[in-house]
Amino acid sequence: MTKCPECGKTLNKEKREISPGIYADVEVCPNCEDEWVDESDYEELRALFKRKVFKVGGSLAVRIPKEIADLAGVHDGDDLFITSKDHRIIIEHK
Ligand SMILES: [Zn+2]
Repeated sequence: MTKCPECGKTLNKEKREISPGIYADVEVCPNCEDEWVDESDYEELRALFKRKVFKVGGSLAVRIPKEIADLAGVHDGDDLFITSKDHRIIIEHK
């Protein structure tokens, strides 16, 4: 049994259709209602949602696939917090 990294409660396993015909095992915290994607599905998702970086003015931009935005509950106009750690870009939605 996996525990929530945030609060330590036992996570419930659920299957979610993240793209037509593509299912991922997600673990949902009954307390925080956060979703955690299973490690084994992560590589598959990684390949499926590869996106090119493009230039917008002096910045770089990347499109967030709708399926990923839906999973994270991100909507048009939301504020996102972007940081970098260990050569990864972390985008947080609070
Ligand atoms: Zn939790």
